[in-house]
Amino acid sequence: MLVEPPKCLRKPLFVPNKLLMGPGPSNCPPRVLQAMSQQTLGHLHTETTYIMDEIKEGIKYIFQTRNTLTLCVSAAGHAAIEAVMCNLLEPGDVVLIAVNGIWGDRASDMAERYGAIVRQIRTGPGNNFTLNQIEEGLIKYNPVLFFIVQGESSTGCYQPLEGLGDLCHRYNCLLGVDTVASLGSVPVKMDEWSIDAIYTGSQKCLSAPPGITPMSFSKKAENKIFTRKTPVKVYYLDMKVLGDYWYCFGKPRIYHHTVSATLVYGLREALAIFCEEGIDNSIRRHRMCANKLYEGLDRLGMQLFIRDASKRLPTVTTIEVPDFLNWKDVVEYAMKTYYFEISGGLGPTTGKSVSYRFDGVQCYFG
Ligand code: PMP
Repeated sequence: MLVEPPKCLRKPLFVPNKLLMGPGPSNCPPRVLQAMSQQTLGHLHTETTYIMDEIKEGIKYIFQTRNTLTLCVSAAGHAAIEAVMCNLLEPGDVVLIAVNGIWGDRASDMAERYGAIVRQIRTGPGNNFTLNQIEEGLIKYNPVLFFIVQGESSTGCYQPLEGLGDLCHRYNCLLGVDTVASLGSVPVKMDEWSIDAIYTGSQKCLSAPPGITPMSFSKKAENKIFTRKTPVKVYYLDMKVLGDYWYCFGKPRIYHHTVSATLVYGLREALAIFCEEGIDNSIRRHRMCANKLYEGLDRLGMQLFIRDASKRLPTVTTIEVPDFLNWKDVVEYAMKTYYFEISGGLGPTTGKSVSYRFDGVQCYFG
């Protein structure tokens, strides 16, 4: 044998029980773990596709949409950003991206790779955008797509979205929104707010495993996808084909890829739990936990990275690291002593803050 069976694989698998309180992933509740321990089914078995249909109904609820092109991509949240860009943009199209942390920059990188002309509006980390700033950008660049992040997890900043869809449509522009870190903690109303493309993370507020990402596209977005002059560059993320696998267009399902039945079971149960709690209760719980955390941190004399409370994302709290402390020591201490995850800063908050979430208690013990 050129390569022998590795010795490490003879040892038993080791997975410690950690309390995940960083910006994500979250721990899965026992009901989700139990669902994922069920036997694998085929990706086109009627039982699997039945569960996929249930998932679509759950996704319509979480996004508050009636869109038929509602489905999952079989990958983490990054694939959903790619899917928005590669489905809604063709080479030479102008896309306008709002950047106030790493996610806008990352989306810009992706859009460029698909041949789009990327323009940005930028504001400082911890700041969000006003409708006026966005309108100026729409007038200046005349984009076909405007992309913005509702919950910028790298800084813990919340972006209000009310009125944005109508504004974009006035300028003949589609609206794409990232709700990976925000959904479940703040309102998301896809149809009411006229959002054209949206996705969230399975592994954040939904407490499902990572690797299967809910998405939805409006009729306007669908129209753009079906009238493209060039094929979508990534077969795996092409909504015309993936939409057929998820039975979005009323045509017989086709084999597009082998969905992970295990992840399908897990997401289905996580959505069921979310629906049982209800959107409003979930938002209330996150708000209450965030407020408790702010109060506790205040008592300890800690300073939050985002001073203006109205701009804080209830899910991800960024805490400034005092000069006399090294953030790595804090994070390592929490992990070593308590198996408790807090993360270091990301992008603009690297070395400046640690991020902390305090919303999952109900899931872990509920
Ligand atoms: N967008 C935001 C706002 C995020 O917080 C994350 C994950 N931290 C992503 C996108 C990417 O998600 P994933 O890690 O599942 O690819």
